[in-house]
Amino acid sequence: MNIRYFLLALFASIGFLFVSSVSYSADGKLHIYWIDTEGGAATLIVTPQGESVLVDTGNPGLRDADRIVKAATREAGLKRIDHLVITHFHRDHFGGAATLATLIPIGRVYDNGIFEGLSERPDQSYLEFSCAGRSVINPGDTIALKQPTSGPQLRLMCLAARKQYIKPDLVQAKENRDIASLHRPKERDGSDNANSIVLLLSYGDFRFFDGGDLTWNQEFELVHPYNLVGQVDVYQVTHHGLDSSNNPAVLQSLKPTIAVMNNGHIKGCMPDVFADLKEVSTLKATYQVHKNLRPDGSVNNVPDDFIANHHPADKCEGHFIKLSVAADGGNYSVAVPATKHTANYMTVPKL
Ligand SMILES: [Zn+2]
Repeated sequence: MNIRYFLLALFASIGFLFVSSVSYSADGKLHIYWIDTEGGAATLIVTPQGESVLVDTGNPGLRDADRIVKAATREAGLKRIDHLVITHFHRDHFGGAATLATLIPIGRVYDNGIFEGLSERPDQSYLEFSCAGRSVINPGDTIALKQPTSGPQLRLMCLAARKQYIKPDLVQAKENRDIASLHRPKERDGSDNANSIVLLLSYGDFRFFDGGDLTWNQEFELVHPYNLVGQVDVYQVTHHGLDSSNNPAVLQSLKPTIAVMNNGHIKGCMPDVFADLKEVSTLKATYQVHKNLRPDGSVNNVPDDFIANHHPADKCEGHFIKLSVAADGGNYSVAVPATKHTANYMTVPKL
């Protein structure tokens, strides 16, 4: 590290400590925001203690970083991002990070680092932006979060990274060999999608799965021969709803109650993904960050109330979807503020 970057990092750390007291007004709930980044990813988790984890940062430029800051400060009452996870090095995931770091202090960054076999390197501005520290994350790692003073245990765990997976005994994973009958291998994905970091957030029995853009054949290894994830309540539809991800073997193993798709107005929402979601007997609702405005949109969209943004990207207001888990973890609500939709769901008891 040369002296310039050392000083930048030092000032960033001091700045980060300086704003360490958040104005967060605790309501005892766990919140998740899906911020619209026009087909990129930016999922903001705010814990009952007011600690924040941002998973991915949308695209380069001001638009997505600005939307993240607005959601974080105005909606969630945060003054900083405590933890930032970048699932993989595609620009719709890491692209907004360098600009974001100029707008709000960022704590520790977790990513795949620069490793042998990395197919696409992030640009220099990503490698050098100000933050309190950087870590390479590995399967089995948990991101240290403050536990609620009362209420169930909170845990954010890495299940997979760089095509490596958590050991089954670490999560008491059950054998799941029969699911192989649903797996039809697809062409190998040589891009960085296949290296995606996979996260599982637990709060009591509540489970939220974020698999980044993990692709088909790698997804299968998450659930076969052992189901390393278990059943989840909320499934972030992998890879924006593209059909190179969302292997039915995964959907049928995770058995989500709710699916949230961070698609764009012409990205994601693939017919096969909707068809495979429809086969999930536990699924009660799918939400979309964006309406699919392609010619196939009339059939490949959920009802308008369940969609946060209805206009093309150049006319888009960038509304978010918000999920709130009750303090005891026993139920949760999903709100689409732009359409005034809210619905309540019960957390599924986990064995
Ligand atoms: Zn992506």
